[in-house]
Amino acid sequence: MPQDTTARTADVVVIGGGAIGLSVAWRAAQRGRAVLVIERGELGCGASHVAAGMLAPVTEADPGELALLQLGLRSARMWPAFAAELSQASGGMDVGLRCCGALVVARDGDEAAALDRELALRRELDLTVRRLLPSAARRLEPALAPTIRLALDVPGDHVANPRAMVNALAEASLRAGVVSSTGDAVERIECGGARIRGVRLAGGSFVAAEQVVVAAGAWSAQIPGLPESATFALRPVKGQIMRLRDPAGPGLLERIVRFEGGYLVPRGDGRYVLGATMEERGFDTNVTAGGLYELLRDAAELVPGVLELVVEETAAGVRPATPDNAPVLGASDDVQGLVWATGHHRNGILLAPATAEIVAAALDGEQAPAAFAARRFVREEAHA
Ligand SMILES: Cc1cc2nc3c(=O)[nH]c(=O)nc-3n(C[C@H](O)[C@H](O)[C@H](O)COP(=O)(O)OP(=O)(O)OC[C@H]3O[C@@H](n4cnc5c(N)ncnc54)[C@H](O)[C@@H]3O)c2cc1C
Repeated sequence: MPQDTTARTADVVVIGGGAIGLSVAWRAAQRGRAVLVIERGELGCGASHVAAGMLAPVTEADPGELALLQLGLRSARMWPAFAAELSQASGGMDVGLRCCGALVVARDGDEAAALDRELALRRELDLTVRRLLPSAARRLEPALAPTIRLALDVPGDHVANPRAMVNALAEASLRAGVVSSTGDAVERIECGGARIRGVRLAGGSFVAAEQVVVAAGAWSAQIPGLPESATFALRPVKGQIMRLRDPAGPGLLERIVRFEGGYLVPRGDGRYVLGATMEERGFDTNVTAGGLYELLRDAAELVPGVLELVVEETAAGVRPATPDNAPVLGASDDVQGLVWATGHHRNGILLAPATAEIVAAALDGEQAPAAFAARRFVREEAHA
C-alpha cells in the first residue's frame, strides 16, 4: 500500500481507509479534488476486513427503517456498474460480485411462522420474495437438510468480496490521484471557530484541509476536537465470523443461505463465510469459543455439509451503529467543512456506492438526504 508522509495539505482529508472512506475518496478525486486518506492501520483493516459482503437490502429490510431500505435498494442497483467501473479503473481487479440470490430458511414451526410474517411484510413493501416448500428449496440447494420447514427465495440479494473491493478501491484511488497515508492516526480534528482547519496526527504534524470527511467506522464519534453539538452517539456492534473452504471445490451452495442467527455466504470458488454474531461488547474483537460454536451449531442444522469444510480463518470486527441503524451522511450543520460518512452498521459494503455518490456531491455543496443528516440526532442540551 502507498505510504506518504510528505503531503501536508489537501482539499479533502478522509479519516479512515475502509470501504467507505476509500469509496468516497475515489469519487471525490474523480470530481477533481486533491484527496488525502489517513488510515491508522492498513487500508481496509477495520470492519471492512471482516465483512461477509452481502448486498442484501431485501433480507435486511425492516418496516421501521424505510429510508435505510430505499438507500439500500438504490445502492444495490448501483452495484453492478460500480463493480464494473472499479474493475476498469483499477486495471482489471475483480471485486467478486456474484449475483446469486439468497434463501432464508426456517428449521422449525416457530421459525416458519416468523418467515411467513417476513414474507407478508416484504410483499407489502413490494419486494420480490417467493415462498418455497422444503422440497422446492432443496431442489435449488440440495445441501439443505431434509428437516427444514420452509424457505423464502430472495432473488435480488447478492454478494461482493469486501477485501477484493478494498484492494480495487485502493488501486483505483491511487490512479485517480488520491494519496493514502497508512500507519497514521488522526489524533484530533482542528477547528477554528465553527470551521474546519485540518487534522492533527498522532506524531504531532498538522494537515491543513478545507474539508474533512469522517469515515472512521465505529471510531468516528471518538475523534476529539469537534464541538459536542456536532457529534452523535455511535456504538460498536461486535461480529464474529469464520472463513471456510471446501477441499472438494465449489458447489456445496450456490446461493446465500440465511437463518435465524446467521448466514452462509458462498464466494463461488469453494470458499464460504459463516457469520455473524451480534454482540454489544464495546470495542472487544476477541474471537470466542462460544461465538464460533453457536454459528457452527446453527449452520450445521441447516447445511450439514458445513462440518466437512476446512477452517481457514476466524475473525471479529465492530460495526458502526447509530441509534436508528441508518448511516450519517453529508455536511455538518455545526462545523463548516465537516462531512460525515459513517454509521453503516450491518450494510457498509452494500451502501458504499450510494454513500460515495452522496458524500462526493456533499463535498461540492449538494444537500444530502435529510433522513441521513447528523442533525437528526441533535443533542438539545449540547445546543443549549
Ligand atoms: C462480522 C461482520 C459482517 C458484516 N457483513 C456485512 C455484509 O455482509 N454486508 C455489508 O454490507 N456490510 C457488512 N458488515 C458491515 C460492514 O463491514 C461495515 O458497515 C463497513 O465495513 C463499514 O466501513 P467503514 O469504512 O465505515 O469502516 P471500517 O472498515 O471499520 O473502516 C474505518 C477505518 O478507520 C480507521 N480509523 C479509525 N480511527 C482512525 C483515526 N483516528 N485515524 C485514522 N484512521 C482511523 C480504522 O483503522 C479503519 O480502517 C459486516 C460487519 C461485520 C463486523
